[in-house]
Amino acid sequence: KPPSSSYPRELRKRYEVLNKTLGVGTFAVVKECVDKVTGIHCALKIIMKKALIGKEHMLTTELNILTAVQHPNIVSLHQLYETPDAVCIVTDLASGGELFQQLLKRGNYDEVDASRLIAQILEGVKYLHERDIVHRDLKPENLLFKSTLADAPLMITDFGLSKILNNHDDILMTACGTPGYVAPEVLMQTGHGKPVDCWSIGVIMYTILCGYTPFWGEDQASLFEAIMSGEFEFEEEYWSDISDSAKDLITRFLTFEPQDRITAAEALTHPWITGSTSTQSSRI
Ligand code: ADP
Ligand code: MG
Repeated sequence: KPPSSSYPRELRKRYEVLNKTLGVGTFAVVKECVDKVTGIHCALKIIMKKALIGKEHMLTTELNILTAVQHPNIVSLHQLYETPDAVCIVTDLASGGELFQQLLKRGNYDEVDASRLIAQILEGVKYLHERDIVHRDLKPENLLFKSTLADAPLMITDFGLSKILNNHDDILMTACGTPGYVAPEVLMQTGHGKPVDCWSIGVIMYTILCGYTPFWGEDQASLFEAIMSGEFEFEEEYWSDISDSAKDLITRFLTFEPQDRITAAEALTHPWITGSTSTQSSRI
């Protein structure tokens, strides 16, 4: 957490960094800041370069790609600044908090609300995939509500960065970051293409509908085993009231072979998403 004097001069010229930490991630501290001219509040993500060892050269290229990304369901990058120790990224502010926090509060979502959330994640991911950007770290902690309003848009954060920040060792070593959303081919180191994001969306959809994750283990080794087995269940006790359409879509997302897995574009035409499934009202 660098003191304000250590923020880059250019950043301090344009933004006032508020003494308010929005969140702490695996590699970053996120603060709120204000554009001194427009008064617009933004998020300032400070990534310590220690997290980038050996991959510093990728950073500028990757971040420039990310600056071009503009979508209502994606947290956009506005500005980039660098210090010897850190990279500072100014992005859209998403003040509604993490889907993860909301899920903890609510326990689970009904199908109508869940469908609206998953549709938004799919819109963002489809947009990224069309541009050959794979997120690789989709999970409820990386999905933020734009505001605290009940119908606030859900926005994807942290995309693309995982390519630079995460490697297999990180996945194995970050015991704090639950890797329950990771696709089997990532664990087996046989693939990390677009289908890995669709797997994660399947885990998210399963989790927000019932309140627990489809894959579970006493420790990390057994969790990995569970994921790599590709087997999961819709336990009667929790799933009996949930539509077959929802279960069908989850099953298509949690398809073991990446080439057989449903894509984001395909999923957007699934009846559970378009709202033609009988158990739900039409989607706005
Ligand atoms: P990391 O890449 O280290 O995981 P994140 O980008 O996920 O870091 O940020 C960590 C946390 O900070 C998030 O989980 C969230 O709570 C908060 N945060 C991140 N970006 C924003 C933002 N744009 N607006 C508001 N809060 C944010
Ligand atoms: Mg994160």
